[in-house]
Amino acid sequence: MPLDQAEAIVLRTSPLGEQDKLAVVLTRDKGLIRGVAKGARKFGNRFGSSLEPMTYVTMFYHEKERRDLITITGCDLVESFFEVQSDLRTSLTLSYFAELIEEVVPVRAREDVLFRLLLSVLRALRMKGELGLLTRYFEVWFLQANGFLPDVHRCRQCRKALEGEEAAWLSPNKDGIFCDACAPARRDEVRRELSRFVQWARKNPPPTTDEIPFTPGELKAVQKSLQAMIVYHLEREPKSLRYIRD
Ligand SMILES: [Zn+2]
Repeated sequence: MPLDQAEAIVLRTSPLGEQDKLAVVLTRDKGLIRGVAKGARKFGNRFGSSLEPMTYVTMFYHEKERRDLITITGCDLVESFFEVQSDLRTSLTLSYFAELIEEVVPVRAREDVLFRLLLSVLRALRMKGELGLLTRYFEVWFLQANGFLPDVHRCRQCRKALEGEEAAWLSPNKDGIFCDACAPARRDEVRRELSRFVQWARKNPPPTTDEIPFTPGELKAVQKSLQAMIVYHLEREPKSLRYIRD
């Protein structure tokens, strides 16, 4: 059987039978792949720590025709992010990223943008970037990469610039933002920080210092709007988001 290889980031694993693990990985070239790592539960197995969540590896595998699951035969560690995950909040946030990616990325389709986003945010976390800020950064780019991010700068209906003190509102479908005059519903207010945040995230790489160009209140408002859009497009609240909140 021909052996294939792929650059991959491990999203999660679960036990499979007595000796194996089921692994879900995001690859740079082939999107999401689910595979069986044979013998990965055995003591002293050849995978070592390379199947830990968020580990960046070169994965070797083979696939059989008409099978959903590939067989992972080995992984070479490229970069690990173990130390980042010793913090519980960070490790929960990383499962949130993994859940979002697993939910939207198609199987076996090139997904370069999300791969690069995840890797760059992981590296920024390792360099002590601030978790809350990096989470919002990930959310903005996640929404944008999937075409879920509406125009945050202009009213969806009259195209008026959303600025100044006037209130703006997320549409009931969470897929657009309206000025106060056009809003069909006034339930989810969008503060102006959102457009400033989106602009900032588009211009900057993921920040690696603990300097935060937004106040806690501003970030909270941004978080509320972004997560409302995510929940709407996923048609459910991510499980991992509940754990982070609790
Ligand atoms: Zn309007």
